[in-house]
Amino acid sequence: MKKAFKYRIYPSAEQEILINKTFGCVRFVYNRMLANRKETYEQFKDDKEALKQQKYLLPADFKKEFEWLKEVDSLALANAQLHLQTAYRNFFRDQSVGFPKFKSKHHDKKSYTTNNQGGTIRLMDSKTIRLPKLKDVRIKLHRQLPKGSVIKSATISKTPTGKYYVSVLVEYEAHIKPVAPTTETVFGLDYSSKSLFVDSQGNHADYPKFYRQAEAKLKRAQRKLSKRKKGSQNREKQRLKVAKLHEKVANQRKDFLHKLSRQIANAHTAVAIEDLNMRGMAQGLRLAKSTNDNGFGMLKTFLAYKLAEEGKQLIVIDQWFPSSKRCRFCQKENKKLTLADRTWTCSHCGAELDRDENAAINIKNEGCRILGIA
Ligand SMILES: [Zn+2]
Repeated sequence: MKKAFKYRIYPSAEQEILINKTFGCVRFVYNRMLANRKETYEQFKDDKEALKQQKYLLPADFKKEFEWLKEVDSLALANAQLHLQTAYRNFFRDQSVGFPKFKSKHHDKKSYTTNNQGGTIRLMDSKTIRLPKLKDVRIKLHRQLPKGSVIKSATISKTPTGKYYVSVLVEYEAHIKPVAPTTETVFGLDYSSKSLFVDSQGNHADYPKFYRQAEAKLKRAQRKLSKRKKGSQNREKQRLKVAKLHEKVANQRKDFLHKLSRQIANAHTAVAIEDLNMRGMAQGLRLAKSTNDNGFGMLKTFLAYKLAEEGKQLIVIDQWFPSSKRCRFCQKENKKLTLADRTWTCSHCGAELDRDENAAINIKNEGCRILGIA
């Protein structure tokens, strides 16, 4: 089993300089390699076979011209190349995602990934982690790595408020007994743009009030920031304020979703959930402008691994499954149902249906069908 564990780190002033230099070098190499790919693509895009034959520049090709690239962790640069390759491959698989974009100093997350090579990444004691090039960095180890785990890689990142983190990816052997699902213990979740989701027991889950309040405060602070003059000291002050609120809101959201997914994973044997990739985004654009987060997606990710750790399953239902349009009693579809209809009456059997609740139960039933226990 592979899993990432994220910890706060406290680099020294010297280590901080090297970390930031590495962020810069990774971005530089990524953008150079991307420019090279872009040029090649423009030149050969009409000849797929010729395009396939092309060779691309690698991080090592830039080191002669830009000597300073040699000062930073070369594995970080190699990983930048892998990230670009993945982005490029995704683009070829699905052109709608768009050509990979250049990384900006101001808008992109500051991070780099490096690999463990025979102990170059390891925990020295409860307060220290060793990282390539950086040597020993102070770490707040708020939880232990699983017993017998092997560190594969580490991602070092910095938040807009200047905090540093390391996310350690480990591999370990897990002894998991599969849990057999039953119709009573399968849980269905339907995405809700107003709250978070509606479940197959008719409950509406929403973020706690304190979270909504913090979110509103953040929005006000963001508006204020947009009115500040560019380059002014007041703008920088406000930017930091916004970044801090942003961090607070993001942490609150994560904590809440961790707790919620833990409860759900403990209480049920399987969870059925809709695949929201396309539909969710389209809906999101129209309806959920107020929630600029991807809370539901995060919940899904947390649920997937929390269930897996307990030998349980997350069933992802096809996005074209008519969860809302189908009457859960007689299975007849209501083709005229629109997004605005919150309740409806089935023209076939006369049932009075709450849109979200009906959808959640349909999702649960479809999950049971897929599991073979319907
Ligand atoms: Zn019906």
